[in-house]
Amino acid sequence: MSFSLKAQQQPVETPPPYALNVVYFVPTDMEPVPDYRRRLSEILLWLQDYYKCEMTRNGYTNRTFGLSKSLDGTRINIVTIRGKDEGLRYPYRTGGVKVLHEVNDYFAKTNTPQKLSDHTLIIMPSTSGNDLEPGGVPFYGFGKDCFALDYPHFDLKYCGRHTAKGQLFTKWFGGLAHELGHGLGVPHNHEKVSERARLGTALMGAGNYTLGMSPTFLTQASAAILDQSQTFRTTPQPTTPAPVIAQPEAIEIQFTAHAIEVAGKLPAGNRVCHVLVYVDKDEFGVNRDYDAEAFVADYNRAARTFQVQIPWAELHPARGKLFQLRLLLVNDDGSQSIMTYNYHRDRLPPKDSYPTREVAL
Ligand code: ZN
Repeated sequence: MSFSLKAQQQPVETPPPYALNVVYFVPTDMEPVPDYRRRLSEILLWLQDYYKCEMTRNGYTNRTFGLSKSLDGTRINIVTIRGKDEGLRYPYRTGGVKVLHEVNDYFAKTNTPQKLSDHTLIIMPSTSGNDLEPGGVPFYGFGKDCFALDYPHFDLKYCGRHTAKGQLFTKWFGGLAHELGHGLGVPHNHEKVSERARLGTALMGAGNYTLGMSPTFLTQASAAILDQSQTFRTTPQPTTPAPVIAQPEAIEIQFTAHAIEVAGKLPAGNRVCHVLVYVDKDEFGVNRDYDAEAFVADYNRAARTFQVQIPWAELHPARGKLFQLRLLLVNDDGSQSIMTYNYHRDRLPPKDSYPTREVAL
């Protein structure tokens, strides 16, 4: 009796070309929190599916970040790395660089697992000593890496529960999902006025406090960035870097009673896939951009032209008069070019053309 080889094979999901590196980093005086592989696998599988649903809703069907999984798909392959120092030697503010240094050293050695992409999520057990008030360790996005923490009640069974452990879970679960967004290349943005009632809170705004408790979503702008992010790719990433664009070939910004209208043309030879415009109010810069609404421009890649209308009614009220328009170009290798244009609400020119004229505030 003979079987065909085909009949004996189980259907195997084709692994994506890239996957998020998931590292569990344990200081010398600590042990992994019990059952971490099951708990973190369930959480990451949930998040992979959440990102997939949100990408699909935004028109990028079934796209999500890759994860290395066990054959039955129920466990994530987590790389557990023993640190060289005690837990308190990796504090929130300065510990990230130190941990990253050790993680990179680990991956650079022979006889250790290869990195599966340029993006790494590093999870550390809480060093606070209080299971109901975890903390103490790095918790932020840092270039292509991001940090999150683990504690005994970090378990999907608490998701959506209106209990102390449920509230605590959302804080660190939403936090992980949000910091992961940063580690995958996504900046902060705020839901537009019309999106709040329809879709809830933007994950890359205050969504780290709502995920699992109330509707939380990825904006069109965040999805456009993730479309070209390495771990979301279904084909190999281009090996030659896309050119950095310092200025568009032309850009015109008009202020009408109803909208800000932005139109322009990109330089020849660009490798831009998406053109985004952020409207950042009051203060600009790192961690001052939570309030920025983001808009995806219509972009004609062949003609290199883009345009977008930003209704004033879609912007939440500002505290002051200053605001910044930020043009973010997403390249086909996942890199970004960013240009900024600053304005004052009381001194808006009807029309501004760049780069021919600079506006003085
Ligand atoms: Zn953030």
